[in-house]
Amino acid sequence: MTETSPLKPGDTIGILGSGQLGKMLSMAAAQLGLKTHIYCPDEGPAFDVCAAKTRAQYDDEAALVSFARSVDVITYEFENVPATTAAILARHHAVVPNADVLAITQDRLNEKTFLKNLSIPTAPFLAVDDAGSLARAVGQFGRPSILKTRRFGYDGKGQALIKEGTDLAVAFRSLGGHSTILEGFVPFAREVSVIAARGHDGSFRAYDVCENHHEHHILSQTILPARIKTTTQEHAISITQTIAKALNYVGIMTVEMFVVETKDLAGGVIEHLIVNEIAPRVHNSGHWTLDGAMTSQFEQHIRAICGWPLGSTERTGPIEMRNLIGSDVDQWPSLLAENGACLHLYGKSEARAGRKMGHVTFLRAKKDN
Ligand code: AMP
Repeated sequence: MTETSPLKPGDTIGILGSGQLGKMLSMAAAQLGLKTHIYCPDEGPAFDVCAAKTRAQYDDEAALVSFARSVDVITYEFENVPATTAAILARHHAVVPNADVLAITQDRLNEKTFLKNLSIPTAPFLAVDDAGSLARAVGQFGRPSILKTRRFGYDGKGQALIKEGTDLAVAFRSLGGHSTILEGFVPFAREVSVIAARGHDGSFRAYDVCENHHEHHILSQTILPARIKTTTQEHAISITQTIAKALNYVGIMTVEMFVVETKDLAGGVIEHLIVNEIAPRVHNSGHWTLDGAMTSQFEQHIRAICGWPLGSTERTGPIEMRNLIGSDVDQWPSLLAENGACLHLYGKSEARAGRKMGHVTFLRAKKDN
């Protein structure tokens, strides 16, 4: 689509990726009278709820071209879309968010450099390409510090904690001896995320800030309201808007941040925000919006990429979202029986350890807000 030609009900959205995010995007599209065509090399939950599917590799040019010809706009549920795939598709239809966004967010060094150029605080970082540069970087940031692969890291994968006694050569090799970055360790009090949408016309709507808790590096729980000051919430949203504008972004964007607390001279707490990561997509910490916001993040993304007005991000009340990981999903009968528990099961067949099988959102009474 172009800025002058919004999509119409009945049009088709192409989605790269067949996971639960693609599934929930597809369901939101269907609610608005749109069809989806899912493209993915692997079978996944989104294939259960789309009008058309293509199972092919991301470098299969013929399959990509025929997919692109069958849709009206193209989006994705994961940020590691290969640049060549995006370029082939972009010859036929807008890929939203745009290819520059992918290039920046796929590479932690590019991402942190981009943020630094916008004067947005990040953990201190240095590019590390061999054991020698790792030793120099550790000399600068001290221990603990965190070594991360520049690309393809998620849920704590592609990371090594450098602590007292860690053998640097072993740590570097454990990440495949590839291009990495070393980050100074951020002594954060909390982790939060901002989920926001930007439209083709520059309109911008953010949800309330989410407070996130992880177990074994995987998101386990999101609560709202986040236990941070109102001024910090506003600042987090304004940082997100700055990033979205600089990227000429369209769609839902998620910005993960650390909150670091220091004390002022009178002993009062000062909250500082440090951006950890940008996810150019709908995000697990925004799943609560399906049940707890006027417009879900999935519907909002569809609205934005179609060139439609953004919906209200108003929250209904206090929220707790819990991920159902691996065998947690076995709790489904008791969760179904619980008042105020909104259950979402992704329909994955095998409940492997660490696999996101579903989530449940608890809507709490408003008086607790
Ligand atoms: P990431 O893959 O960058 O999202 O990191 C996964 C998790 O590792 C984060 O949610 C944090 O809990 C932790 N982490 C990442 N980077 C840092 C850092 N520089 N300092 C402290 N903890 C970090």
